[in-house]
Amino acid sequence: MLKGLCAHMKAIETIKRAKRQECDECVKIGAQWVHLRTCQECGTTLCCDSSPNRHATRHARSKGHPVIASAEPGEYWMYCYPDDAFDEYEA
Ligand SMILES: [Zn+2]
Ligand SMILES: [Zn+2]
Ligand SMILES: [Zn+2]
Repeated sequence: MLKGLCAHMKAIETIKRAKRQECDECVKIGAQWVHLRTCQECGTTLCCDSSPNRHATRHARSKGHPVIASAEPGEYWMYCYPDDAFDEYEA
């Protein structure tokens, strides 16, 4: 992974945090998840690639929303899919 801000991340003014600690899509289908990520385009919270359904990545690809932030308590980082860029930020 690249380290550092890409243009998508630089354009984010306020980082969206999870409203609820659950994957919006897994809840609908009764699935389990491992970690949660919040889409920085629309604010939806979905599950990570270690989860069986990988909803965050599927959402990013299907909607074209580039950046996710970790929704895990105590984690402060973002990831951009098209740039494969990773950056940590201050709480
Ligand atoms: Zn980017
Ligand atoms: Zn999910
Ligand atoms: Zn989104």
